[in-house]
Amino acid sequence: MRILLVEDEKRISDSIKKGLEQETFAVDTAFDGEAGFDLAITEDYDVIILDLMLPKLDGLEVCRRLRKNKNHSPILMLTAKSQLHDRVNGLNAGADDYLIKPFAFTELLARIKALTRRPKGSLDALLAADGLKLNTLTYEVSREGKEIRLSKKEFSLLEYLLRNKGQILTKEQIIDHVWDYEADVLPNTVEVYIGYLRNKIDKPFEKKDRLILTVRGFGYKVGGRK
Ligand code: CA
Repeated sequence: MRILLVEDEKRISDSIKKGLEQETFAVDTAFDGEAGFDLAITEDYDVIILDLMLPKLDGLEVCRRLRKNKNHSPILMLTAKSQLHDRVNGLNAGADDYLIKPFAFTELLARIKALTRRPKGSLDALLAADGLKLNTLTYEVSREGKEIRLSKKEFSLLEYLLRNKGQILTKEQIIDHVWDYEADVLPNTVEVYIGYLRNKIDKPFEKKDRLILTVRGFGYKVGGRK
């Protein structure tokens, strides 16, 4: 797997590069937006890590131009906490995920691994696990062929769980990905919504294995039991 890292702070760039190389990734670095863009369109990267604040061209602009150039490499944006509102802009500009600085290296690694598992070019419209199907285009959900009606929030929670099938997700990650930044969400709220979901996708299907597992002390997981 090959990664492009566009980050102007040398110290951060060096430490990310070193860490990723230890995880067997090949890492190219660029220290401004123009150089990053040039590398991105000439090489084929499995993931592009793009800092938001960059000299010459900022991360949003690089992202926009890459997508305009039909470059579909997954993009992980790095933003400072003070630029939190920019995460929405980042996702609108075509980024696939974002990470708030400062972050733990393990978190960065987990995000990169999740991104590399996605099929290149598009996200799967149809997500499935153990007889459960979720269509992200038509918003249809069913299990064993039986239609399940979910609220919007339940749907986006289930979609997030399915997109990260087999991975343990913390409540904080779930909050970050399912609720917008203006929402005042407590970890307890996640528990409540997980409960709603279980009532709809697990409870009526007692003969099947439970889909949503609680990983005590960590969070939740869908599938990946085998
Ligand atoms: Ca920067």
